[in-house]
Amino acid sequence: MSQAIDTGSLTSLTNPSPPRLLIVDDEQHMCDVCSRTLQRAGYEVMATSDPDVAIAALNDGPPFDLLLTDIKMPTMSGLDLAQIAREKDPEIAIIIMTGYASLENLHQSVRRGVADFLSKPFELEQLRLAVDQALRKRAIQQDNLRLRTLEQLLAVSEAFSATLELPELARIALNAMIERSGFQTGFLLLGDDSETLYEAVAHPNDACLTDEGHALARRSFVLCQPLYDDTAFYGVCHNHRLHVALAVPLRAQGQVNGVVLLCDERSATLRPGVQQGLVLLANHAGAALRNATLYRQLDEAYQRRQELDRLKSEFIAIASHELRTPLSIVLGYTMMVRDQVDGGQREYLQRVLESAQRIKEIVDDMVNLRHIDTGEAQPQLAPLDLGDLTQQVINNLRSTAELSGQTIVTRLPETLPPFLTDREKVLLVLNHLLSNAIKFTPAHGQITITIGVRPFADLEALNNALIIKPPALLRALPWVVVDVADTGIGIPAHEQERIFDRFYQVGDSLTRERGGAGLGLALVRELIASLGGAVWVVSREGEGSTFSFALPFRQT
Ligand code: ADP
Repeated sequence: MSQAIDTGSLTSLTNPSPPRLLIVDDEQHMCDVCSRTLQRAGYEVMATSDPDVAIAALNDGPPFDLLLTDIKMPTMSGLDLAQIAREKDPEIAIIIMTGYASLENLHQSVRRGVADFLSKPFELEQLRLAVDQALRKRAIQQDNLRLRTLEQLLAVSEAFSATLELPELARIALNAMIERSGFQTGFLLLGDDSETLYEAVAHPNDACLTDEGHALARRSFVLCQPLYDDTAFYGVCHNHRLHVALAVPLRAQGQVNGVVLLCDERSATLRPGVQQGLVLLANHAGAALRNATLYRQLDEAYQRRQELDRLKSEFIAIASHELRTPLSIVLGYTMMVRDQVDGGQREYLQRVLESAQRIKEIVDDMVNLRHIDTGEAQPQLAPLDLGDLTQQVINNLRSTAELSGQTIVTRLPETLPPFLTDREKVLLVLNHLLSNAIKFTPAHGQITITIGVRPFADLEALNNALIIKPPALLRALPWVVVDVADTGIGIPAHEQERIFDRFYQVGDSLTRERGGAGLGLALVRELIASLGGAVWVVSREGEGSTFSFALPFRQT
């Protein structure tokens, strides 16, 4: 059975609980005295006169910070007990109590890494001092270990920030964890939401994972917990069977996104500081791998969008070219025949003509967009009387508005001198904005066209809404601003930027009944951009929309 690993937590560094001491002495009286003295000094103490009970506590209970043991006990030597404690936790502080510290004992103890000797009989103050000193030494060792972990984390962070390539990041993470653990082989497996794990990298490259290895990694992934196991055969490396495995889950934003499976031929004792370091590294790696995955998905989405834009342009190129000629023939002949017949037939042909006219409007948008794509639509600058042009557009569309009882109001400045711009392009823009306002405003609504001249700083106050930002050079000029406001259905906030994309329409049901192909605003955006202007929309669902554009007021 695999066993869960206690990895400690960083909070224990800031809020330490009292050190836990284990006292072993076959003389019950000695146990009691030491135990009481040290409890009074604030330590948490467990005391026993039976070394077997001590071994059981070392193996199964919560970890101890210090072992204080008699050297000579009837059933076991204190030095052997020290060795067992050290194997369990290489950093445990150990003090040996002895009545006769021989040179041989001292030599053995140093070899076994024993911290201190306390010669019996000793003063209670001496005992407190010895324990205090041994724990201090242990704390310094632990700090050094943490420092090494932090140094390694820093080095790994630097390596992580140098790349966004998933395999490269996986390799850096795996190597760091192998180095930290001292295990000889490792595998990094990545997982997705379906809980399927796939092997991303192995170290060394030719190391292989067995089914048991996969199963242990999956268990750790599902339980979201580090697991240690030495009961099966987890992998092979250079013809050596790997019988020991430690699985550490990789985490990012509270979710497991992979597992590192560290394997070795021999059992290993992982110091608590090392385990903690491995978990920190794993969390760090989890976050870096998740970022790289997100970046890759973003990049793929961007590439798909680029491809979609290319396909849209290609479609526009083909459709505008292929539909134009047959459509002119349909329109021409229908008009000709309509003028030669009367009554019901004339009415039918009139309807055919109106439908063909709607197709023509879409084809015209495509042709105009195509011209912009190919660079054929260079602005032709000439003085423009914007008041006149606005009135002309309103006159063309007034009858459509009146059909549904809508009113069109204008607010024009008393004087608006002509300025240099491209008449045809501004005509198309105004035509589209007013047509949309009429189309998306219910019967008896109102459309207001306002024209004004403002400094560019006023527009910058609307910065968030600007769909197109003008070039810096033009910002010093005054700007002509046109607002087309309606009392229509409005546009949900999250759709407001996308409506300027080619073929984009808000919700199917709303727009189907109103026709259109989602090209008008895309064209408006391109036309305004080609004139060095700005365009934006302010809208509230159910209340209405104001589409605005601004052009540099370049006077003749
Ligand atoms: P279409 O020809 O389909 O109207 P446009 O590019 O002109 O295409 O507009 C894109 C979409 O933006 C429309 O389908 C509609 O959903 C929304 N829209 C445009 N103008 C308005 C408006 N004045 N009020 C509400 N929604 C609008």
